[in-house]
Amino acid sequence: MRKNIVAGNWKMNKNLTEAKELIKEIKKGLKKEKVKGKRVIIAPSFVNLNSAVKKTKKSVIEVAAQNMHEAKNGAFTGEVSANMLTDLGVKTVILGHSERRSFFGETNQMLAQKVDAALANNLEIIFCFGEQLEDRKGGKHFDVVETQLKESLFHLLKENFTNIILAYEPVWAIGTGETATPEQAQEMHAFIREVLVKEYTKEMAEEVSILYGGSVKPDNAKEIFSKQDVDGGLIGGASLKSADFLAIIDAI
Ligand code: PEP
Repeated sequence: MRKNIVAGNWKMNKNLTEAKELIKEIKKGLKKEKVKGKRVIIAPSFVNLNSAVKKTKKSVIEVAAQNMHEAKNGAFTGEVSANMLTDLGVKTVILGHSERRSFFGETNQMLAQKVDAALANNLEIIFCFGEQLEDRKGGKHFDVVETQLKESLFHLLKENFTNIILAYEPVWAIGTGETATPEQAQEMHAFIREVLVKEYTKEMAEEVSILYGGSVKPDNAKEIFSKQDVDGGLIGGASLKSADFLAIIDAI
């Protein structure tokens, strides 16, 4: 069901000691009434997931992985499978982050396989997508986004989308300090919902949570989250400081 969600993508930051400390601070700052009706998700690195699941057990904080391999198991040195994540108690995985696409060559087709493997293992997915700066400058951003969704997700049944959170992240706004304006975010989110209506149904499109990601900070979160089709945020840099992350959670 469509929910307000704030998810922190810690990327390759925080060793075990630092991760424990950050979780402690977030837990301390999250008073029950602050998070009523919201979901709070953190995505530490693989090596800290086990500890994160244990440390958040009695809290509202949920733990996600940042990636996974599509194969069940086998000779894939350095990779982690869906089952390894679920066995730890991880319930959600981020797939398709722009850094995975650009630094590790993940394509829409590869992501379709990862999506299938995650769903087959009952993992919820935060599916990231978004255009490059030249796409936007060339007026191709809607086409690029539609193609990313089509090639990685539209082989799925509408029922599968109960386990999918969409995260629109214009690449030019990730880690750059540059944010899409609230109007640009709303325009794209409304477009995404229209694409879902066209491909599936209106009812289904209304139920999918669509997050915005790209330099969300405490001082711009409220305005971005106030937009009708923005259901929360995927937060990079600002999720690494408890005060900033808590302020963003407060803003939704
Ligand atoms: C991200 O990496 O998903 C992200 C949105 O990063 P930042 O908030 O730092 O732009």
